[in-house]
Amino acid sequence: MKSHAQAVVIGGGVVGCSILYHLTKLGWTDVVMLERDELTSGSTWHAAANIHGLHDSTNISRLQHYTMGLYKELEQETGQGCGVFQPGSLYLAQTEEREHQLRLQEAKARYYGMNFHEISRDEAERLHPLVNYDGIRCIMFELDGGNVDPSGVTMAYAAGARANGAEIYRFTPVTATIQQSDGTWLVETPKGNIRTEWLVNAAGLWGREVATMAGIELPLIPTEHQYFVTESIPELEALDRRLPSVADRDGEYYLRQEVQGLLVGAYEKDMKFWAEDGTPQGFGHELFPDDLERIEVNMMRAIERVPALERAGIKRVINGPMIWSPDSAALFGPVPELSNYFCCNGIIPGFSQSGGLGLLSAQWIIEGEPKLDMFAWDLARYGAWAGKDFTRERVRDQYAHRFKIHFPNEEREAGRPLRTRPVYELQKSLGAVFGLNFGWEHPLWYAGSPQQAEETVGFTRQNWFDPVGAECRRLRQHAGIIDISNFAKYSVKGAGAEDWLNTLFANRMPQSAGRSCLTPLIGKRGGIAGDFTVTRLTEDEFLVIGSGMAERYHQRYFNAVPLPAGTTFRSMTEAMCGFNVAGPKSRELLQRLTNANLSTPAFPFMRSQRIELAGVEVVALRVSFTGDLGWELHCATEDQLTLYQALLQAGKDFDTGPVGSRALMSLRVEKGYGSWGREYSPEYWPQEVGLDRLIKMDKGDFLNRSAYEALAGNKPRERLVLIDVQAGNADATGGEPIFQPDGTPVGRVSSGSYGYTVEKSLALGYVKDVSAGQEVSVAILGRPHKAIVLAEPPFDPKGERLRQ
Ligand SMILES: Cc1cc2nc3c(=O)[nH]c(=O)nc-3n(C[C@H](O)[C@H](O)[C@H](O)COP(=O)(O)OP(=O)(O)OC[C@H]3O[C@@H](n4cnc5c(N)ncnc54)[C@H](O)[C@@H]3O)c2cc1C
Repeated sequence: MKSHAQAVVIGGGVVGCSILYHLTKLGWTDVVMLERDELTSGSTWHAAANIHGLHDSTNISRLQHYTMGLYKELEQETGQGCGVFQPGSLYLAQTEEREHQLRLQEAKARYYGMNFHEISRDEAERLHPLVNYDGIRCIMFELDGGNVDPSGVTMAYAAGARANGAEIYRFTPVTATIQQSDGTWLVETPKGNIRTEWLVNAAGLWGREVATMAGIELPLIPTEHQYFVTESIPELEALDRRLPSVADRDGEYYLRQEVQGLLVGAYEKDMKFWAEDGTPQGFGHELFPDDLERIEVNMMRAIERVPALERAGIKRVINGPMIWSPDSAALFGPVPELSNYFCCNGIIPGFSQSGGLGLLSAQWIIEGEPKLDMFAWDLARYGAWAGKDFTRERVRDQYAHRFKIHFPNEEREAGRPLRTRPVYELQKSLGAVFGLNFGWEHPLWYAGSPQQAEETVGFTRQNWFDPVGAECRRLRQHAGIIDISNFAKYSVKGAGAEDWLNTLFANRMPQSAGRSCLTPLIGKRGGIAGDFTVTRLTEDEFLVIGSGMAERYHQRYFNAVPLPAGTTFRSMTEAMCGFNVAGPKSRELLQRLTNANLSTPAFPFMRSQRIELAGVEVVALRVSFTGDLGWELHCATEDQLTLYQALLQAGKDFDTGPVGSRALMSLRVEKGYGSWGREYSPEYWPQEVGLDRLIKMDKGDFLNRSAYEALAGNKPRERLVLIDVQAGNADATGGEPIFQPDGTPVGRVSSGSYGYTVEKSLALGYVKDVSAGQEVSVAILGRPHKAIVLAEPPFDPKGERLRQ
């Protein structure tokens, strides 16, 4: 066995083999796979191995599409059959909401050049005569949907990797992984040890156990999952072609042809966990006893849809384990707290995603960053807060509603509340409806009372539309108090603090105490890895504020710049809370609570002061994401309740009150402000989003400066614009494609909201070759909606309100 490799991949399932293959494709040939048993001996060997391209998340669709196209290429390249059948997939909508979802996916497919389109019932009956289409409102056809042979695909990846130089050691369990002082890893096996620069955990069902060897916990839990295959069905025997698969998502089952019979798999409500406290080491090519009773309801729905099933005998039942993350998406990427340790775990649709996961893993490991924004899969979206109870409850919900529509803005209740701040009970008593934000309960909007604090979900405007409008108007006319405790906060102190921040961020750090600046953080490929507000509190103390969701994600970038001796960096996110008090009366309101002079000459825009408010010491920053006059007030967490009560009390005289984050979303869209994760991501260049003006090339080196320099002169590929949409009862929410009036695709929406104070339905989006004043069409609910590209934000375009 080799004693050294550039990368060691642990686990020879379909995902590990794809990663190994793609590492070699991108040029790393000194790579090794260690597999405990035979290849495929986790979830892989018994999968139904259906493949689909479309997903609600656009980037995941792109990766699934790549995967579906890869299998035939892989066969050609390696000579190993992948058992690819692509007779197409039929998607059925039984409800109006499902129809909206499918129509939106169809519009996205048009934008990305994927083949997914509506067909008539007649056409569907010709394609799949065994389906009863009664009660189906809309039918879509995905031309290249189908299934593959799970072992064939895995062996093909392995053969491709081997042909490119990779070595695969089967029956070689990894027993320990030990980080060395130079950052490399020592991997121990009974057959000898290997030193490696990069370690990849692709151990599937054993992902948790392998992670524990490196001292980390992954929020994963396995469940049982069943499908059955019928005996031959005469109607199928009589056909000389293969039938398309059927995605009847409202029925919570999947169905496709298998030889001359049918295969039906189900996600039942009465789901069953397996090996909650650890996957047995000796578990191999094993299955669980059949338990068809558990999936009876789903089976009945399948029989109703395909009556031929009722007459068919069951030939084989597969009840096997699969392992889930709390949101059923991958736990993907380098672990921020370790160096050179990469995870690719918790993969549910491994056969739809293996190619994309392998490609992005290789890009991330070899090139330092994937080419697509993968925050939806990034393991950094969870922290230590995602413990076993939370994971169990979320997975129970995910499994039982596997095919349920994830509506825009939908917040699921399972596993909550988990982390609350001191004002939680008070906010609850005010009728707050909460969302989950990096584990914290965070107020989204305020219903009239706690009894009414429940929201409906859907693609169209919901019950929160009017209350959020009232919050926006209240803030714009008077003032509003927004809880911004979910922002990430960091304290950087010491003689080297300024230098360190200047070497990390692209803008020049404030030169004197009391000043703040906005700054981008540049990614490995020159895109935007983050946007921050940095405030110089004293000569050698800075407060850095960024996205709370991205705290663990940003840690990777912070780690990349060594701290000078004597300088400290500390997350203050838990230790500090905050409120944004904004609106034309915010100054008067705050002045009631402090003797500090809040007039513009004494406290101008973009300045900060440590002041006392209602007896609480706060760092006050004169900024507001609402685009209105306002202050951010950051205090110690133990003072949060006192400050909130004082603000609410003083606010009564100014007709103000609490405002939630949905209103903030609308207010910032009215101003055309971008937000990290939506408008700003590593995929976009600073000049495409207007952040290039904050990059100071004359200040010396900063993180990934050369990557930015290489593209700084490039013409923007697309531009961020604000669009006024003629919407009906639904607004854009993000992801909707944008077309020219003649149907030519020109871009996509990044954020959307109704602008209550400007009375327009608005969307921020990226477009190509479209200028202000031009008419475009936004595919809200997948249907064309006329829209105009705006030359400037409809609310306070000159920014006078902020500075007043
Ligand atoms: C019944 C069923 C039906 C399914 N149907 C579909 C479907 O239709 N479409 C689809 O896309 N997906 C389907 N899946 C899911 C699919 O099987 C998984 O997404 C996929 O197999 C995950 O692959 P993996 O490589 O991540 O993990 P695994 O297949 O679990 O592989 C992990 C590997 O790591 C090895 N390993 C573990 N620990 C160590 C160690 N210490 N040292 C060395 N090696 C180790 C294991 O032996 C194993 O071979 C189905 C799953 C089930 C259970």
